[in-house]
Amino acid sequence: MSKIRVLADHVANQIAAGEVVERPASVAKELVENSIDAGATRITIEIEAGGRRLLKVSDDGEGMVRDDAILAFERHATSKIRETDDLNAIGTLGFRGEALASIASVAKVELTTCVEGANAATRITIDGGRMRDVKDAAHPRGTTLIVRDLFFNIPARRKFLRSEATETYHLTNLVTHYALAHPEIAFTFVNNGREVVRTAPARDLRERAYQMFGEEFLKNLLEVDGGEPLFARVSGFVSAPRDRRTSRDSQYLFVNRRFVRDRMIGRALTEAYRSILPHGVYPAALLFIETPLEEVDVNVHPAKTEVRFRRQAAVADAVRESVRAALASASYVPPPEPPPQIPSPVMTATAAVSSITPQPRIEFIPPPPPAPRPPAEPSGDEIARDLEIMLRSASESVKSAALPPLNSAEKIAREVTPESLSTNIRPLGQLDESFIIATDDQGLLLIDQHVAHERVLFDKYRALEAERRTDSQQMLVPETFDLTPAQAAVFDDLVPELEKYGFELMRLSGRTVAIRAVPADLPGSEARNMLFELLETVDAEKKTTAPETMRDEIAASLACHAAIKVNMPLAPEKMRWLIDRLLETSSPTTCPHGRPVILRLSTRDILKGFHRI
Ligand code: ADP
Ligand code: MG
Repeated sequence: MSKIRVLADHVANQIAAGEVVERPASVAKELVENSIDAGATRITIEIEAGGRRLLKVSDDGEGMVRDDAILAFERHATSKIRETDDLNAIGTLGFRGEALASIASVAKVELTTCVEGANAATRITIDGGRMRDVKDAAHPRGTTLIVRDLFFNIPARRKFLRSEATETYHLTNLVTHYALAHPEIAFTFVNNGREVVRTAPARDLRERAYQMFGEEFLKNLLEVDGGEPLFARVSGFVSAPRDRRTSRDSQYLFVNRRFVRDRMIGRALTEAYRSILPHGVYPAALLFIETPLEEVDVNVHPAKTEVRFRRQAAVADAVRESVRAALASASYVPPPEPPPQIPSPVMTATAAVSSITPQPRIEFIPPPPPAPRPPAEPSGDEIARDLEIMLRSASESVKSAALPPLNSAEKIAREVTPESLSTNIRPLGQLDESFIIATDDQGLLLIDQHVAHERVLFDKYRALEAERRTDSQQMLVPETFDLTPAQAAVFDDLVPELEKYGFELMRLSGRTVAIRAVPADLPGSEARNMLFELLETVDAEKKTTAPETMRDEIAASLACHAAIKVNMPLAPEKMRWLIDRLLETSSPTTCPHGRPVILRLSTRDILKGFHRI
């Protein structure tokens, strides 16, 4: 029974037009989506030379009869929609009917497919869009598509493909995404004859995540389960705040099992970690949003990786609140206010200040702690404490909108330029055990103790590395961890650079790695976090960058993990020491990640504030 039809023009014209074949991973994406739509329970992806020489996807799905197999390569030929109305509720991953036509026009394609109970399978060969041959073949129920020599007929496009390592990285990432979105399907991924991923069908996401990432990764995850079934159920896993990443690469977002990139969801996730993760640091997440089909428009972008929600803000709220609830259940944040089921004046009033309301950020005043703290040890430093109280109450009144808008407060404490920095800095005390309060000839200074120490250590590591004098400390018990398939692809290249800094790493069986020694000042407990962050930053995309840049990344990451943390009391001598070291560095006013180290509230602005000038 044939199932494919060529869409009428008026329907085809409604579809987000554009190129889908950008690189091998985009071809693989379309083929894997077709296999999933065909109801496959097993999907095998094989690649050679980063997918340019060969890309093969086999499935055990429903297959196609001969007429359909031929029609499938026509533009706008699809079995998934018929009418314009169908675009309002798309339940399949594909619907454009263009992928096979586009792929066949830029490669040498062989399709072999067989439906249940057929006498023989059909094999079709097409080169550069020209059908060469249609014949009988042997193939179990299902479909195998082989794509050879991608862009063989478009030299300009071929030239633009990145290195084999980069294309392989993208392909590995793609397989990881689909394997996570479909635990029930067994995935196998073979790169140049080597099996990289082989998973049995899994019961649920937890089991699949375990298969893909290993026990360590899973152990640290918090389960998310929330949202509102009417427009957005949210489930999956997020990382605990101590597991920090410097990019969003470990955020896997899915809408109705479709892998998407969505800034709005990404932002909602970041907001959920507000006040427990610093700026520029991201949590890992596997988040699944399930919405009724008509609540989401997937016909926005030709590659179908962007979606539009009918109720954007409500979906963002659902994501933020569900993740926040997961963090609260593990006591990382205070429990959320109960959702205002029946709006009452009291509820509305609390909602206005509840932890869910996004708050404007003041860089130098973290929000007040959730519970009253034990009375502070008398530090003997009245000025500092008074100042703390003053800044706090200022921030409270700013929040209640009684004062001018927040940015005016931000503008008063300015970043310090290196030229205006004198050696005459006198520490007075600490604010929130995170920022050193000091004075210089021009006013009041706030020094972020963590980034200041980061700058000091960064310079030190770069100097030691240049002189080849790094020290290491052996771990008593080597720590082991599991690499994700994508991390494994870059790990080997990173090792020689890491060894220059004093790491000793050993690849055990498969994707397990043992840390045997770490650089001298790095706390052993931070080693794993740091390596994870580095593996994320130095992905294959950036592998082509100069070793210099890679060394900077390592030194910056090492500095960040070895540096004094925020929320840590510092003795006066320690503050003095830190300021002196900071002033000796190459760039005392910015940290290796580009953030400011020192803010100044000038005496002039203080005088103005008190209406004295
Ligand atoms: P779309 O997926 O948008 O419909 P494609 O060009 O990707 O368009 O595929 C065209 C049609 O070919 C699909 O609608 C489907 O009916 C059929 N098809 C493609 N791949 C497979 C497969 N692996 N198994 C069964 N049918 C397939
Ligand atoms: Mg398709």
